[in-house]
Amino acid sequence: MMTYIVVGNSAAGLFAIEEIRRHDTESELIVLTAEQEPSYSRCLTTYFLAGDIPASHLYLRNADFAERLNLKIVYGVKVNRIDPTRQMVRSIDGREWHYSKLLIAMGASANKLTIPGGTLPEVFTLRTMGDALAINKTLDQGAKKAVVIGGGLISLKSAYALRKRGLEVTVVVSSGQILSQMLDEKSADMIQAHLRVNGFKFLLQTEAMTITGEDHVQGVQITPKTELATNLVIVGKGVHPNIRGLSDFGFNIGQGLQVDSSLATNHPNIYAAGDIAETWDLVRQKFTVNATWPNATTQGRIAGANMCGRQEVYPGSLSLNSVDFFGLSAMSVGITKLQDNNGTGDWDQEEDLKTVGNMSNYRKLIWQGDILRGFILVGDTSQCGVLTGLIKVGRPLTQAQKSLTLAKRGALAVGIMK
Ligand SMILES: Cc1cc2nc3c(=O)[nH]c(=O)nc-3n(C[C@H](O)[C@H](O)[C@H](O)COP(=O)(O)OP(=O)(O)OC[C@H]3O[C@@H](n4cnc5c(N)ncnc54)[C@H](O)[C@@H]3O)c2cc1C
Repeated sequence: MMTYIVVGNSAAGLFAIEEIRRHDTESELIVLTAEQEPSYSRCLTTYFLAGDIPASHLYLRNADFAERLNLKIVYGVKVNRIDPTRQMVRSIDGREWHYSKLLIAMGASANKLTIPGGTLPEVFTLRTMGDALAINKTLDQGAKKAVVIGGGLISLKSAYALRKRGLEVTVVVSSGQILSQMLDEKSADMIQAHLRVNGFKFLLQTEAMTITGEDHVQGVQITPKTELATNLVIVGKGVHPNIRGLSDFGFNIGQGLQVDSSLATNHPNIYAAGDIAETWDLVRQKFTVNATWPNATTQGRIAGANMCGRQEVYPGSLSLNSVDFFGLSAMSVGITKLQDNNGTGDWDQEEDLKTVGNMSNYRKLIWQGDILRGFILVGDTSQCGVLTGLIKVGRPLTQAQKSLTLAKRGALAVGIMK
């Protein structure tokens, strides 16, 4: 009988487990996870913090999940050794498990702040449910002001939650625009203006130098003479795949754990999926880590199938991000700035910005010849499905297909003018 081990109980791990059970209901299936929680949605933690949903709504499966699928879930266990020769995994506390097939779905961790004061108790990152509960506790204790360090997706989602809880929020961003991984300057400015109207303060091109306070956070110093008073700091300075130490066990490591198109690593019987895995990027045409929930679930499912002897091919990942703040939506897929292109050919962009009253719609398409390589939509995002589909096609569009997208642009403009 086979023994499947899945390390990680989040997006990739969960979808792998369910897929394994679809193909093999008999074999032993063991899930090892560092956290104490059953599978939950990280993406929803900011909505919990905002007070939009209770913590119980974060859980992804019912309480009888493990029993129903006949699996053993070991909580609070941190794997720190993998021995591909003996086919064993080992945890920090010395326990060992033998596997026939292993999935590494250990995800990523938040980058910590390394400035003075960065370890004070009210300085948080937001990655886990434990982080969310701890931040929530500080909010319940009456925090009034918050500083969010970083201008990325998780920073802004956190800032949004804190605003909804009534805090004064200042977002400190080292670069010259917010959401620089996701948007171009024009679209980022639109989101920023909208957030400002909703009470956010922004400081761009500003570095947090020191977090002040003896035992508790008092402020964030941004110049030798300027300090922002605050009770709470959330740090959103990106994430790193949990690959530390894996190269010692002979794994091929790049930005993440390298896998082939079956999501197998360079060791036999070991697969990887999710935020830890470096996969083929459909648009950028290179291996990279595209750390999003949909990429993780798809990879988990395909890895699970292949662990059961299927021969599914993972077509590749896509960078795809969307946000919605106070009724304004933005979405981007693939390459969003001409200068980020990674290939030859005729690169070009088309931009449309329409503002009527206080409503703005922005659309930008990035073309490599006749191939659609990326887009940004702000406001009306109804075309995102069609455009994402065209990007996935990855081939030159016929004139008819191209004019269909162009016609939609016309329709978009007409729609706003009405
Ligand atoms: C606040 C927030 C908001 C987000 N919003 C979005 C969004 O709107 N859209 C989107 O697409 N993505 C979003 N993401 C990203 C998304 O959550 C991740 O891409 C996704 O969770 C990746 O899933 P994963 O299974 O690869 O890894 P993770 O979710 O990181 O899970 C890793 C798992 O491995 C376990 N683990 C880690 N190390 C060990 C170890 N040494 N031993 C044993 N177990 C271990 C962990 O306990 C966990 O179960 C958001 C993330 C955050 C934090």
